[in-house]
Amino acid sequence: MGNIFSGNRGRTRLETDEVPSLSISRYRLVEDDTIVVKGERIALDRNPRYLGGGERYFLCPSCGRRRRRLFRVEGRYACSRCHRLQYPSQRQRGADTALRRFLAIKARLGAAPGLLSPIPPKPRYRHHASQRRLTLQLLDAALDACRAYALRNKSLDVLLARTQPTPGER
Ligand SMILES: [Zn+2]
Repeated sequence: MGNIFSGNRGRTRLETDEVPSLSISRYRLVEDDTIVVKGERIALDRNPRYLGGGERYFLCPSCGRRRRRLFRVEGRYACSRCHRLQYPSQRQRGADTALRRFLAIKARLGAAPGLLSPIPPKPRYRHHASQRRLTLQLLDAALDACRAYALRNKSLDVLLARTQPTPGER
């Protein structure tokens, strides 16, 4: 079943700016082939250059691809793709949009303005099917607003991710 955040319209995915990350720029001068960060061994690769030196990369511990940035979710480092992170620009429906939609549908149902005003009984002229459709749309908008709010405030999922037990961490 899942919870309210696992509905099929729009999913809650962590965004790249919501989780701790490692940038290769910090390790540019490291000569070793691996580094150990928070108890996790991460391989480094080098793009050889003719005259020595060369660009360094992480090898994603999950897919093995060269990456300039790794992200830590649930105590594990991997690339944004492996963690299925989305970039902030990919953020879908904003909380404000969902909230406006919620209030508009409430108004169509005849409720007084305000978030918490009750929904009045179905008027005589409206079919049961229409009342039901509007009520479902209202519920949908409410869930969208909650989801978007949780994302924007970096709250629920991020707090959860940060409280995961970390294997190998003391
Ligand atoms: Zn990966």
